[in-house]
Amino acid sequence: MRIDIITVLPEMLEGFINESILARAQKKGLAEIHLHNLRDYSTNKWRRVDDYPYGGFAGMVMQCEPIDRCISQLKAERDYDEVIFTSPDGEQFDQHVANDLSMKGNIIILCGHYKGIDQRVRDHLITREISIGDYVLTGGELAAAIIADAVVRVVPGVIGDEQSALSDCFQDDMLSAPIYTRPAEYKGWKVPEILLSGNEAKIKNWEMEQAMERTQRLRPDLLEK
Ligand code: SAH
Repeated sequence: MRIDIITVLPEMLEGFINESILARAQKKGLAEIHLHNLRDYSTNKWRRVDDYPYGGFAGMVMQCEPIDRCISQLKAERDYDEVIFTSPDGEQFDQHVANDLSMKGNIIILCGHYKGIDQRVRDHLITREISIGDYVLTGGELAAAIIADAVVRVVPGVIGDEQSALSDCFQDDMLSAPIYTRPAEYKGWKVPEILLSGNEAKIKNWEMEQAMERTQRLRPDLLEK
């Protein structure tokens, strides 16, 4: 899949998209992430992309034209399944949205800044608006990073052991069971006996019981879904 991120702060995302799993996914040819500096699409010599809001409100607003020029250029090169705007009033991002987006071919993520973007961009160019939580960030870059990370992570083949992504928290609206590694005993802290038993059926059962107990205790709201 291909993700195009439009931002006024590409430097902020440069390091992030070229590290760890995102870097590996790109090297394996399973994902491509491209950054576009919105200022390159400004029509004035100061490379400005914002202006004062109509109505005398406080803050600066990102203008239609640079955003339209950037999105139009991308759309001329290929078809996009979604043009996403990161926004605190958007649909709440969760594992279901991440799974859904991971099945798309090409998506654009537009990062807002300042007070936000001209409403006409949202009305005419954006197909989906996503919030990463009920708090306000200074810009959409962290939201775009979170979305790209969670989405690319579930693209088949990106995580070596595929089972590993599927057994993560939230994949079935459940929290995960606890996990352990060697040694079997450390400072007298023991790994649950059952995990050392080699009995696959019993271990699977234990894992399900643990996941259910944790979900009931910590996130009963997930079970109501
Ligand atoms: N005035 C806006 C907030 C602007 S914050 C309002 O009241 O809704 C500046 C930009 O940061 C936003 O345009 C958006 O792109 C990004 N942003 C802030 N909080 C976010 C969140 N919780 N989820 C996703 N993007 C967010």
